[in-house]
Amino acid sequence: MKALGCKDVGVECSFVAKGKTTEEVLKKAAEHATKHHGIKKVTKDYLDSWRKHVHEA
Ligand SMILES: [Zn+2]
Repeated sequence: MKALGCKDVGVECSFVAKGKTTEEVLKKAAEHATKHHGIKKVTKDYLDSWRKHVHEA
């Protein structure tokens, strides 16, 4: 499993996106970010910066 938590990118939030692949994790993280963190559009810049923090879980 791969995972990316809000805390991993410096956001005070207990959400952790998990998935089999990095792309799956980033998709879940994007949904969460738009719903809960007021990000209107998840740009490539967001995805590129998040991708670096995806880790094995
Ligand atoms: Zn969050």
